[in-house]
Amino acid sequence: MKGRDIPASPARLELENVSASYNGRPALSGVTFQAPHGSQVAIVGPNGAGKSTLFKVLVGLLPLQSGHILIHGQPLGQHKDCVAYVPQREEVDWRFPVTVADVVMMGRYNRQGWFGRPSAADRAAVRRCLEQLAIADLADRSIGELSGGQQQRVFLARALTQEPHILLLDEPFTGVDATTQEATLDLLDALRQQGVTTLVSTHDLSLAARRFEYVLLLNREMVAFGPPAEALSARAIQTAFGGRVLFVDGVAVVDDCCR
Ligand code: ADP
Repeated sequence: MKGRDIPASPARLELENVSASYNGRPALSGVTFQAPHGSQVAIVGPNGAGKSTLFKVLVGLLPLQSGHILIHGQPLGQHKDCVAYVPQREEVDWRFPVTVADVVMMGRYNRQGWFGRPSAADRAAVRRCLEQLAIADLADRSIGELSGGQQQRVFLARALTQEPHILLLDEPFTGVDATTQEATLDLLDALRQQGVTTLVSTHDLSLAARRFEYVLLLNREMVAFGPPAEALSARAIQTAFGGRVLFVDGVAVVDDCCR
């Protein structure tokens, strides 16, 4: 079934006891949560906690070792194109000689088939998303010439042209300026109004607590999931970050050494 054919309801993401490994080496285990339709989930944990691994499983880049994932109540794999993924900037080869418009058009490939050509609707979607991300003036530029914040916007625009029901952003706030961070958060709020569920990985505990409805705390296994006030307990943070957490005036601050 294609993502577009899926009924808008019940639209939620359900994971039950999900685990994944690389060449038999466990990277993630015991992840169980339900993200309601249109919810915003911050995925928080130290380096190597399995945040990117979880995203790779959700887009089918890495097989599930065990457990179940349901999207719209159906098993993962039946409608992958309704999940859009924005990888970390370091994972992209920015020397690749493509323009901004080319990259954003890639979000439409699933609709075009192997030898399909972009339709008027595809080109209109690309234009709309470039404008939404305020990068229409960069359409003909090569991606390697852009700043970190601009590159971030290009990949967000690519994800939006896919018209996803679930949007995964891997460390979108690392190495970008405050303006891009705020623009990204505003965009997520606008997408929430359209019922798009977003999962965002971040190291920033304070941002997760302030701006997200739910927090998934990971350290190779699920430590906690829930509203920030529940999931970000002192005990859970210490479990996830190995005890290297300072509490300043009751606010948890993760020591830089464990990032
Ligand atoms: P995070 O995104 O939280 O930093 P990752 O999901 O990248 O964590 O990594 C989780 C674990 O899986 C780490 O131990 C990491 O070394 C390992 N890992 C990640 N990618 C690979 C890979 N391609 N091959 C082998 N091991 C990997």
